[in-house]
Amino acid sequence: MIRSVNGVPVLPRHRLSCHCGAVVIELDLPDGIVDPRRCDCSYCRRRGTIVASVPLSGLHVVRGEDVLQLYRFNTHTARHYFCSRCGIHTHHQRRSAPDQYGYNVACLEGIDPFLLDGIPTRDGIHHPADRAS
Ligand SMILES: [Zn+2]
Repeated sequence: MIRSVNGVPVLPRHRLSCHCGAVVIELDLPDGIVDPRRCDCSYCRRRGTIVASVPLSGLHVVRGEDVLQLYRFNTHTARHYFCSRCGIHTHHQRRSAPDQYGYNVACLEGIDPFLLDGIPTRDGIHHPADRAS
């Protein structure tokens, strides 16, 4: 987990916003940025952002519920939300952990995602939910 980035603290309740500002979300991050990662699945590899996890109860849409759009693909389990005005992905309900949202770390206000080092990339191409049982 990451509690500060270059001296900027991750707040216990941190704001996340899309590019145009229509969507504002507050995240409960008492443990900072938890489990930051990239993913190489067909969707995330195009998006390219670092995501981190928060419980469903820890994400609060303050503004822009009406402009959030939902994108689903493949098994239609994960729910990817993005701003319909500026197109920025803000968060998604995870497929491998449906009790969690993943959120776009680059949307955290005041946090520079380019200062994060050593972020692992998950093997999303071979997602456990895509394997034959
Ligand atoms: Zn926007």
